[in-house]
Amino acid sequence: MTARVLVVDDILANVKLLEARLAAEYFEVLTAYSGREALEVCARERVDVVLLDVMMPGMDGFECCRRIKSDPNTHHIPVIMVTALDQPSDKIQGLENGADDFLTKPVDDIALVTRVKNLARLKTLNDEMLMRASTSRQLGITDNEALDKALSGRSGRVLVIEDHPRSGVRLLEALAKVHDTFIEQDPNRALITLAEYDFDVAIISLSLARSDGLRLCSQLRSLERTRHLPIIILVEPGEEARLLRGLDMGVNDYLIRPIDKHELLARVRTQIKRKRHSDYLRNRLEETVEQAITDALTGLHNRRYMESHLETLVREALRSGRHLSMLVADIDYFKKVNDTYGHDAGDEVLREFAARLKRNTRGIDLACRLGGEEFVIIMPDTEIARAYQVGERLRATIAAEPFRISADVSIRVTTSVGIATLEHSDDTPQTVFKRADQALYAAKRSGRNRVNAAAA
Ligand code: GH3
Ligand code: MG
Ligand code: MG
Repeated sequence: MTARVLVVDDILANVKLLEARLAAEYFEVLTAYSGREALEVCARERVDVVLLDVMMPGMDGFECCRRIKSDPNTHHIPVIMVTALDQPSDKIQGLENGADDFLTKPVDDIALVTRVKNLARLKTLNDEMLMRASTSRQLGITDNEALDKALSGRSGRVLVIEDHPRSGVRLLEALAKVHDTFIEQDPNRALITLAEYDFDVAIISLSLARSDGLRLCSQLRSLERTRHLPIIILVEPGEEARLLRGLDMGVNDYLIRPIDKHELLARVRTQIKRKRHSDYLRNRLEETVEQAITDALTGLHNRRYMESHLETLVREALRSGRHLSMLVADIDYFKKVNDTYGHDAGDEVLREFAARLKRNTRGIDLACRLGGEEFVIIMPDTEIARAYQVGERLRATIAAEPFRISADVSIRVTTSVGIATLEHSDDTPQTVFKRADQALYAAKRSGRNRVNAAAA
């Protein structure tokens, strides 16, 4: 997917110039000639990055930026302010209105492409992250803390690699207010630190007195642990060749000396967000899938998973004419365990019960905790007589050994088991489950600690 960049400037020639340069880099370009028009485009179309001229008649760039950032429908769109003068006050005002980065006119090509690429990538990650978060919420998984952290570009861990004392102090001063900032003069030690500890971004000077910062960049990119670590390099004016080599080897962004504090903070923030978004997506992917299908207490599959998978199994068994049996087990007098030994001991019993149940299943069987102290094993390719044996073995395994809760607490536990099998062509997951459940309650009524199969 190519990024869509909205270029906003009141002067036609400026718009055309930026449009041509961006199109040459294969960005898709939208244009607007006023702040108002820009807001309309953002409301109407997918926009990944806005390049926004500051000085425009009517609504100026600052106001336009503020409106983009205060509308919930558009506030995730990154905005790059294009300032005519290299005015620090413009940058402060831009940041205050929510701008993500800056370009100064006349716009330098490398700066333009680097900035747009970084923010377009951030936008893609951000979109994906918000979609996943919304799916998670639909599944009942709330992860606001992780999401908030990922959305914030604050309180990152930053390592500055700089051996010029005065420059080092200035960088520290600017960054330390917002981030946990550390400084390292020796690139070899920096490499070890970055590989060993979790940093959100490395800022590397290319003007180190005793070593080559680019070498460190290349080492960081080739190490597994640091391959995705965001890197910002600090270059001298006119060092274009080295800057391009850095960008080629995967450096994420750069600043030209003398370092503007606001640009520094904006770029660091973008890189931190970008890293956190990717981390979020990576971690959430595993956690969400796990949480959606497993029971947290026992690690068995959960009810939701069982229900959706049972549909498939029943359909498949009916189609192929194979057997499919189901076992429902419910712990006897479990309430008494809680009442006598406490809820934590009860949980421990549930865990041990699940472990014993699992030992009684084959790989193809599906072991689930339905909730409370009720468990299910679904057994494909298994006829009722065989399922009965499994149930009897489970019952015996539970009753045989008391459950050891702690050094001085062991609890005798028994379970009742109901069995049913798929037998009619119009059977559904619900009808089979219902028969197993009825068999279970018959087992309870006839004295507990026993197995009962539903009559065919
Ligand atoms: P029966 O032999 O008829 O099955 O009696 P029972 O006491 O096992 O059944 P009942 O349904 O009356 O009680 C089940 C208890 O299980 C009540 C509930 O507090 C407890 N329980 C449900 N879920 C959990 C859990 O996750 N942990 C713990 N410790 N207890 C739970
Ligand atoms: Mg019970
Ligand atoms: Mg019960």
